[in-house]
Amino acid sequence: MTTDVEPASIPVSAPAAPPRRRIFSGIQPSGIVHLGNDLGAIRNYVALQAEFEAIYCIVDYHALTSLHDADVLRRGTREMAASLQQPDDLNHGLLTYPVLQAADIVIYKATTVPVGKDQAAHLELTREIVRAFNNRYGETFPEQQAVFTETPTVLGTDGVRKMSKSLGNTIEILAEPEVIRKQVMSMVTDTQRILRTDPGRPEVCNVCQLHRWFGPDWEEIQDGERTARTGCVDTKKLLAERITRHYAPARERYLELMANPAEIDGILEAGADRLRPKAEATMAEVRERMGLR
Ligand code: ADP
Repeated sequence: MTTDVEPASIPVSAPAAPPRRRIFSGIQPSGIVHLGNDLGAIRNYVALQAEFEAIYCIVDYHALTSLHDADVLRRGTREMAASLQQPDDLNHGLLTYPVLQAADIVIYKATTVPVGKDQAAHLELTREIVRAFNNRYGETFPEQQAVFTETPTVLGTDGVRKMSKSLGNTIEILAEPEVIRKQVMSMVTDTQRILRTDPGRPEVCNVCQLHRWFGPDWEEIQDGERTARTGCVDTKKLLAERITRHYAPARERYLELMANPAEIDGILEAGADRLRPKAEATMAEVRERMGLR
């Protein structure tokens, strides 16, 4: 028997763009953000958003190894969320999600993870877990690739060790201008430049090195030091001013959010709501494959 029904027309559409690779990274809710965190990690997070579908989480469960005070943890999580909400950077997908690194990565089927060279071994563990699962239950998870991004190691105010909260040698980028000024003015510069008239060595002076990030004229500034046209105090004052000015909009937003914790909680919830369906879909698939449902 035939019918007169016309075959359904096949929709003609433009070829679909290949799905963007998904990148995942977690950051600990460990309090104040310093210059090393921004130049070494956060700027990179922002840049990677252009190329990948980015999922960035505040991994509060990871902090439990060293932090056992619920209020401090809640505050740290809000502080980190507020710190990351820079005015030109509102599309961070933020989420507080209680699982450890491998689970964090695979539950969103992330294909890509930004790692420092020293963290490659961590990712290898995740890849092994993925391979073991895929071997046993069939192709479920992509095997993650690392993207090694060029990030600088920022030295602390002591001029020799890596800037780190635990070493107390930080420049707190969202602090009051006076705090930033004091921290910058305390920086150790070229220890061989004793007199104002001595020529400086910008290549070993952390103040000069940090100027690279805060203005197009950093070579001129370095030249001023090299020829003793300028002194360390002038160069530090200028750096403090530039850091303060650069982070002023972020600080304004940070303070606004910290005065309104409900808004931060709303941002975190919106991130969680956006990601929950992805995590639930993965878990449903995993249970199905394992015969748990
Ligand atoms: P801290 O050492 O102050 O506790 P974290 O370990 O919380 O900082 O680091 C958070 C992120 O910031 C990580 O991606 C880390 O690589 C980056 N980071 C921390 N300190 C520096 C630094 N001095 N220079 C470059 N990147 C840094």
